[in-house]
Amino acid sequence: MTARKDETDLLSDIRRFIEQERDLFGQMLFVGKRAPEYEEPAMPEKKHIVAEEPLLFDLPAPAKPPVTSESWGTASSLDDLNAQICNCVKCALGHTRTKFVFGVGNPNATLMLIGEAPGADEDAQGEPFVGKAGQLLNKILEAINFKREDVYICNILKCRPPGNRTPLPEEVDTCIPYLKKQIELIKPKVILCLGLVAAQNLLQTSESLGRLRGRTLVYEGTPLMVTYHPAALLRNPNWKRPTWEDVQAVRKLHDELVARN
Ligand code: URA
Repeated sequence: MTARKDETDLLSDIRRFIEQERDLFGQMLFVGKRAPEYEEPAMPEKKHIVAEEPLLFDLPAPAKPPVTSESWGTASSLDDLNAQICNCVKCALGHTRTKFVFGVGNPNATLMLIGEAPGADEDAQGEPFVGKAGQLLNKILEAINFKREDVYICNILKCRPPGNRTPLPEEVDTCIPYLKKQIELIKPKVILCLGLVAAQNLLQTSESLGRLRGRTLVYEGTPLMVTYHPAALLRNPNWKRPTWEDVQAVRKLHDELVARN
């Protein structure tokens, strides 16, 4: 083997290692805020409830603060929301995108999947997860008996960062209110974050993927689980098995929550 070949192999090993570290820990390592854990809502014991009193879970949920005071904040459907925000140019990505990638799937989905940001294929087609990672995601969904049309799929960012770089904090801050409004309209029973970027930004935590996986966390009252990003699985097939375990747990939690009402 030539010295040149050794060098190329070494560089590609280093690149793979760095990408792997980024999938697990993000751009930077922080010792940060712990992500909130989901707890079963306390069920009042029936024998203590006086008939005229409403049950705890019959009471209206406390009002959440509106995600924005802008006009799209009052959108009453996903189509209405999309129509109001699809020409967004609040950040620089609005000027470099080909298509705004709003989200796709069942507007009444009980399971919502959230990725990082559109890649080249998604930018060209205007739909999330349609490239290689998307094909793998479809297989992952099939493995737990969901069809792509059953669930709702979207991203933290609606526009592609050039060269698929990690979203910048200011891009996330500008774009994430749109996602929050989508969650408010869909009201999923369970959210599945695909990868660290989705999980850290939605949960406002800096915990690593290793610490976030395998737990039932909570986003504004909605149970949330985290697994590897499908693109990371394409880079590291050893993560397929743990992902399979994660999604089995998601299916179980989903079915339990759906069966409750
Ligand atoms: N990766 C993502 O996070 N989202 C997509 O839509 C495609 C690839």
